[in-house]
Amino acid sequence: MSERARILDGTATAKIIRQEVAAEVKALVSTGARVPHLAAVLIGDDPASHTYVGMKQKACSWVGMQSSVHRLPASCSQEEAIALVQGLNDSSEVTGILVQHPLPSHIHEPAVLDCVSAEKDVDGISRSSLGGLINGEPAFASCTPAGIVELLDRYDVQIQGKRVVVVGRSIILGKPVAMMLLNRNATVSICHSRTVDLADEVSRADIVVAAVGRPELITGAMIKPGAVVIDAGYNRVEGRSKDVGDVEYESASARAAWITPVPGGVGPMTIAMLLRNTLRAAQGRYL
Ligand code: NAP
Repeated sequence: MSERARILDGTATAKIIRQEVAAEVKALVSTGARVPHLAAVLIGDDPASHTYVGMKQKACSWVGMQSSVHRLPASCSQEEAIALVQGLNDSSEVTGILVQHPLPSHIHEPAVLDCVSAEKDVDGISRSSLGGLINGEPAFASCTPAGIVELLDRYDVQIQGKRVVVVGRSIILGKPVAMMLLNRNATVSICHSRTVDLADEVSRADIVVAAVGRPELITGAMIKPGAVVIDAGYNRVEGRSKDVGDVEYESASARAAWITPVPGGVGPMTIAMLLRNTLRAAQGRYL
């Protein structure tokens, strides 16, 4: 391809979704319903987690939702974390619960996440919600994978019948996005650190989803001309002024038909999906 790829603009798309959510929140509240309320559980002092929770609170206020942060020290026990989550499950004030991860290493993360009740699991990463994704039962979709699929849909990128290669198999990203795309009738391969010839796998993809956490691992030379490239990665690299994706943007955009920038691609979509899930929880609707 001699032309450069068109941009799948996550910032602009997320803004549209936020406006849609804000309008629906207003309509819901006008019926006398309670204002949707996202409760974040924040354990420990991880600065990035504090930043993410702050961003999510700001986004809630933008769409007219309430939010609250429930903090525990890094030294808290697993039982204390579970008790906090159970209290939020029981609270009629709270619509959705977000347990900000990573949790301190002495806490078994799934044990806490699994305590979030299905109807409040707006982050969609409890085993129950992930199971729903696999067996087709109602469940909230986990936010980053859902944001990727939503972005493709908003740009009318065809998924059905396409050959998709997902690079990365984490439980929060690679596996659920692969399952969502499979559910949409794509033919999906999942690559990981033991994949023998990553370049060969990626070169056959109509849609590549990079979810690796390795700066610029996927180069333009691997991309099939005309492919769609979704880069979920953001990596801090010393000496670079902004975060870097898992895809080498310049070379990939010389071959792809569509590409997500970093930042401004997948990242903003994640928060937009969290807001939409919280709204759906308030409406009593699973995605
Ligand atoms: P993760 O849990 O570390 O998983 C990384 C995956 O990449 C693993 O499955 C690993 O394979 C695979 N991998 C590592 N090196 C590889 C290589 N050389 N070749 C092929 N596969 C390789 O990461 P994650 O949490 O999924 O996050 C992935 C990226 O997405 C990160 O940059 C993260 O910051 C970003 N992210 C973005 C958002 C957002 O909102 N935009 C949300 C979450 C994550 P093995 O399984 O074999 O180890």
